[in-house]
Amino acid sequence: MSDKRKVIIIGTGPAGYTAAIYAARTNLKPLIFAGPEPGGQLTLTTQVENFPGFPKGILGPNLMEAMKEQAESFGAELIYDAVTKVNFKTHPFEMFVGNDKYTSDTVIISTGASAQLLGLESEKKLLGHGVSTCATCDGAFFRNQEVAVIGGGDTAMEDSTFITKFASKVSIIHRRDTLRASKIMQERAMKNPKIQFIWNSTIDEIHDPEKSTVTGVTLREVKTGKKSDLAVGGVFVAIGHRPNTEIFKGQIDMDEQGYIRHHKHTMTNIDGVFAAGDVVDHYYRQAVTAAGMGCQAAMDVEKYLETRGH
Ligand code: NAP
Repeated sequence: MSDKRKVIIIGTGPAGYTAAIYAARTNLKPLIFAGPEPGGQLTLTTQVENFPGFPKGILGPNLMEAMKEQAESFGAELIYDAVTKVNFKTHPFEMFVGNDKYTSDTVIISTGASAQLLGLESEKKLLGHGVSTCATCDGAFFRNQEVAVIGGGDTAMEDSTFITKFASKVSIIHRRDTLRASKIMQERAMKNPKIQFIWNSTIDEIHDPEKSTVTGVTLREVKTGKKSDLAVGGVFVAIGHRPNTEIFKGQIDMDEQGYIRHHKHTMTNIDGVFAAGDVVDHYYRQAVTAAGMGCQAAMDVEKYLETRGH
């Protein structure tokens, strides 16, 4: 099977859907691959209060469903599959889903990033119900509550400091006794009277999936194995993100962590291949910034095709 397009969009987070809306409205009839996590990271959260246009907030999955409907209403075609292989060394570019081949004059990569998780069953069950990977998104839900933040990097420090605007107390749980975070971020967190550090410890269990809400965690001292309980109303996992760029390795220019580099505007090192959203940006990582970049990528695609007489 082969299907040639003017633009194929890989990934359906805010960047991918926004790119699809813009590309569809200029009659480019984009084809979008939903990927392994249709709708992206926002489908793992509950209430989204910082996406403009929703003064009362909107549920993450509903926001993504609305973006999907909007893209489809303009003629974008969605395939619920994940691209398994790409070949950007030939033109038109080739994308494969198993043995099915799709070709396109341009590609927008919007495969996003995934937050690293601890890997606990309870964490999975409570994600979006008291367990969060985004302090900016969810910090405000923990007004006057005690919460735990896990990690020892800049994100953990920044998230903890941010959450103290709302929470009554933040416990940073770190598996070692020294932090990876930059000095300035460490100092800011250490000076904050609402923040306490729990060193050489990890989270063994998050309670209580049965109640569909977080009531506390069981900590484990790494060196001694000693367990203890800490009552918290929320857990922020801040142990890093991983860009979803595995299938592009060796073909697209990336930084050391695997985030795609822009070369000209939103275009990558390959003429005709563009990238948008968290797959590029590990700094802002917001739905609205990803959506903005998706718009830019679609506009760049349109210009690219126009200048080449498509
Ligand atoms: P990071 O620097 O990779 O730090 C991850 C932290 O999580 C480390 O302390 C690590 O512990 C811990 N960790 C990893 N896996 C774990 C596990 N399974 N269990 C328990 N702990 C675990 O990630 P990040 O903090 O997200 O930062 C990513 C990049 O963004 C960095 O380059 C950072 O400087 C940058 N950043 C910058 C800013 C800013 O400048 N405003 C803000 C946020 C992030 P170990 O230390 O023991 O490995």
